[in-house]
Amino acid sequence: MRCISTRGHQNRETFCQVLVEGLAPDGGLYMPETYPQVNAETLARWRELSYAELAFEIVSLYADDIPAADLMAICARTYTLEVFGSEAIVPVRALSSGLHIAGLSNGPTLAFKDMAMQLLGNLLEYELGCRGEELNIVGATSGDTGSAAEYAMRGKKGIRVFMMSPHGRMSAFQQAQMFSLHDDNIHNIAVEGVFDDCQDIVKAIAGDAAFKRNHRVGAVNSINWARLVAQVVYYFWSYFRVAPDNGTSVDFTVPSGNFGNVCAGHVARMMGLPISRLVVATNENDVLDEFFRTGLYRVRGRDDTFETSSPSMDISKASNLERFLFDLLGRDADRTRMLMTDRLSQYGSFDLGGDSVFAQAAERYGFRSGRSTHADRLATIRECWERYDALIDPHTADAVKVAKAHAVPQTPMIVLETALPIKFAETIREAVGQEPPRPARFDGLEHLPKRFKVLPADTAAVRAYVAQALKAEAC
Ligand SMILES: *Cc1c(COP(=O)(O)O)cnc(C)c1O
Repeated sequence: MRCISTRGHQNRETFCQVLVEGLAPDGGLYMPETYPQVNAETLARWRELSYAELAFEIVSLYADDIPAADLMAICARTYTLEVFGSEAIVPVRALSSGLHIAGLSNGPTLAFKDMAMQLLGNLLEYELGCRGEELNIVGATSGDTGSAAEYAMRGKKGIRVFMMSPHGRMSAFQQAQMFSLHDDNIHNIAVEGVFDDCQDIVKAIAGDAAFKRNHRVGAVNSINWARLVAQVVYYFWSYFRVAPDNGTSVDFTVPSGNFGNVCAGHVARMMGLPISRLVVATNENDVLDEFFRTGLYRVRGRDDTFETSSPSMDISKASNLERFLFDLLGRDADRTRMLMTDRLSQYGSFDLGGDSVFAQAAERYGFRSGRSTHADRLATIRECWERYDALIDPHTADAVKVAKAHAVPQTPMIVLETALPIKFAETIREAVGQEPPRPARFDGLEHLPKRFKVLPADTAAVRAYVAQALKAEAC
């Protein structure tokens, strides 16, 4: 199974090439040439598997350049009780009749990014080991992604992480999660600036070809195809837990930001998993809701990107939408490239509303959408607490609110839970007037010794720090 670029570059890359490369050379995103099809027999067999076994089956359809025994061993040591807190890995519970919650946030950082990032860490260590190469990941985070990356890469041979975050601007819990890591290969850099300053430094370093080559610098971001493949697994897993037989169709509602999570649902559906509808839930940053309602895709500026109480969905553009667009446009790479580059750079938006192809997003691909506000989140968290005795985080609340508006009788609805309430204690207190429960392994987290380096918001300073750290290690 080879991967191709959404923008038409002629390379056909293997899974491991794409794993290390991330972005295609033409700036496009990698997609599989075709979607492997899953028939009734396969579904019947997969229903009986453990999470790690199911992950192996699904990932191996795409990663056919990794020997089966190696891939099985990687999946088995990724999806464990120790790392994800339960045998199930993704426990699925019923909130009310017909409304189910799939728990994706029981990994080391209590947010769904662990589901894919933990596998990515082990895959990267494996592939770099095979090649005898090293990788220095330079990234920026305002919270969830950075800590998921650090927890996935800690202690991995051949990999170092240099993660920038805005000094003093993360929540105490998020900061403690990252800064309490003392592994030699993890470097926390607190930048005296805001998240956008960190992002700008990453971009400047990414554009410095000589520095990148000399210091083997790469990135791990949400556009990596391997991450998406890892996320396909829990759609199948949750389906088997909720649908009584493989003839039943279900709906999913997904709290969305960059469109990575729900894009994996699209891939699962294209492979033949009986998903009727994929409901995209956004907060006030409703780029995606606007697109699926009207066909208008409009990138927001800094001034109309809002800071909300579901902060991991505060995005100005949805980078992974390009993958769905490519399918929606009948895999017309020229048109995809034209929309994503010419149109967006010139107008900051494009509108498919008047195009006959747009109706297919709903009719053929099953997409629906909705948005919610801070008041909706509070009301939903309160309602779930009072009526169902279930405490959910603000991102999951966005999805529950939207799921209720789209639920149809007789079709089970599965909401993906993307974080645990403890990460967003302030909003939980506001909604239900009490502290969210804290898993025992996080007791005293904020009091652990912290390890981080404060640097000015200056590319040269960060570059010098990275070079110095690598040199110190080499001596
Ligand atoms: C990253 C994140 C999301 C958004 O996921 P996308 O793949 O960007 O759509 C939603 N909720 C939480 C808690 C997250 O960390």
